[in-house]
Amino acid sequence: MGTEALLTRLRDALGNDAVLTDPDVTSSYSRDQMPLAPSGTPLAVVLPADVEGVRATVRACAEAKVPIVPRGAGSGLSGAANAIDGCVMLVMTKFDRVLEIDEANRIAVVQPGVVNLDFRTAVEKRGLFYPPDPSSYDWCTIGGNLSTNAGGLCCVKYGVTTDSVLGLEVVLADGSLLRTGRRTVKGVAGYDLAKLFIGSEGTLGVITEATVALRPLPQAPGTLVAGFDTTEAAGEAVSRVVREGLVPSLMEIMDASSIKAAEAYLNTDLGAGSDCQALLLCQSDAGGDAARRELAALEQICVDCGASMAYATDDLAEGKMLLQARRVVLTALERYGVWLTDDVCVPRTRIAELIAGCQRISEEVGLRIAVVGHAGDGNMHPTIVYAPDSAEELARARKAFDDILEVGLSLGGTVTGEHGVGKIKRDWLAREIGPVAMRVHRQIKAALDPENLFNPGSMFAME
Ligand SMILES: Cc1cc2nc3c(=O)[nH]c(=O)nc-3n(C[C@H](O)[C@H](O)[C@H](O)COP(=O)(O)OP(=O)(O)OC[C@H]3O[C@@H](n4cnc5c(N)ncnc54)[C@H](O)[C@@H]3O)c2cc1C
Repeated sequence: MGTEALLTRLRDALGNDAVLTDPDVTSSYSRDQMPLAPSGTPLAVVLPADVEGVRATVRACAEAKVPIVPRGAGSGLSGAANAIDGCVMLVMTKFDRVLEIDEANRIAVVQPGVVNLDFRTAVEKRGLFYPPDPSSYDWCTIGGNLSTNAGGLCCVKYGVTTDSVLGLEVVLADGSLLRTGRRTVKGVAGYDLAKLFIGSEGTLGVITEATVALRPLPQAPGTLVAGFDTTEAAGEAVSRVVREGLVPSLMEIMDASSIKAAEAYLNTDLGAGSDCQALLLCQSDAGGDAARRELAALEQICVDCGASMAYATDDLAEGKMLLQARRVVLTALERYGVWLTDDVCVPRTRIAELIAGCQRISEEVGLRIAVVGHAGDGNMHPTIVYAPDSAEELARARKAFDDILEVGLSLGGTVTGEHGVGKIKRDWLAREIGPVAMRVHRQIKAALDPENLFNPGSMFAME
């Protein structure tokens, strides 16, 4: 089948409005938020509204040998949802319904195009909690979250996306519909195929529905902020929190560069003093006295580790204001140029070494690098700032990006804690997991997608 015949077939099956070919329109779907990743020119953007539309698209593209790149909101930071030349971008945003919230069993069934925040709000109205909370939660989709196994600020206590997933519905490369997983709390019948699709970055199939486990709504959080004159002291406090068995609902770290950027942006002094090299922000959602005790224990650890400032509050508005400093860092950095954010995850005992490595790299490449991160799980986002119109600065930023990955691996970490491999870290994946694991990856891909239809070349190449 030629491309014109493919487009006719797609229009017949899905309707004219669901198949877009105007290059001015399709180009806006051709890349995500990672500036370094390559992107191509799609043949068409297809927006199916139901499972039969997805199956028809998959069957037609398979027959025409036209690759498919599934896409949610395009908020990704790895180029995973970037177009490849001549592909069909399969945009899932019309799958935007919460199909079921079952309070008695504490589960929900949700379509992949639902925006994370809309889903959280819908379950909250029923007194329930869906934990995965990527910082992009007000525009990224559940499908993107599932396919990247997204994390966020809550992971230290509640885990990443996969920890909330019970079952999936997936359209496979031959157009058949796989329903896998369960609606029960437990279940070990067969391989855990649902987990295989989570984090598979659109390379194995198209997720059309998810059954997720919900939790009781936590209590309003109390907040602690602590400032340290050395990153080593802040790192030691994180290690002590872990060692002593405390599990805050949030534990974030900001280095000196991010503190300065946030203070300048918010036009405020975070109260940490001019010598402050690191801030820890912790929350407890245990509620009432339990939260106060947890925050007091966290504060004591920070003070024992040499915090120059520590302040705890159970006032919700004040806690939000304190957390605002962490949330604005990326926006604050835009004052100095374009940002490029890394995503290494290191053992929690090595966070200070990673920050020191980033400071060294920053001096070597002559670019600002600000480190913010989810200290509670070791997932750091060193963010490099460069001038948008300078190819030479971009090259230095790229070098810094790779050097940071190198440091992360040398500390026993991984090259991606939550953003994924996509089209930007393929070589790094091979380096991290080695030839045997790469062979197993290719065998799984070949078994499920023998014609390499879905997102070919993303995450790894088949040859
Ligand atoms: C400012 C900012 C902050 C961010 N903060 C975080 C954070 O805290 N934590 C975090 O984990 N990420 C974060 N991200 C990255 C990004 O938001 C996440 O990776 C998110 O999960 C992507 O969702 P999306 O809907 O935009 O997916 P897209 O970017 O459109 O796609 C991501 C991947 O999912 C695949 N995909 C999408 N839908 C489907 C489907 N239905 N079936 C099969 N494959 C599919 C795509 O092919 C692609 O491989 C951030 C991004 C930005 C811009």
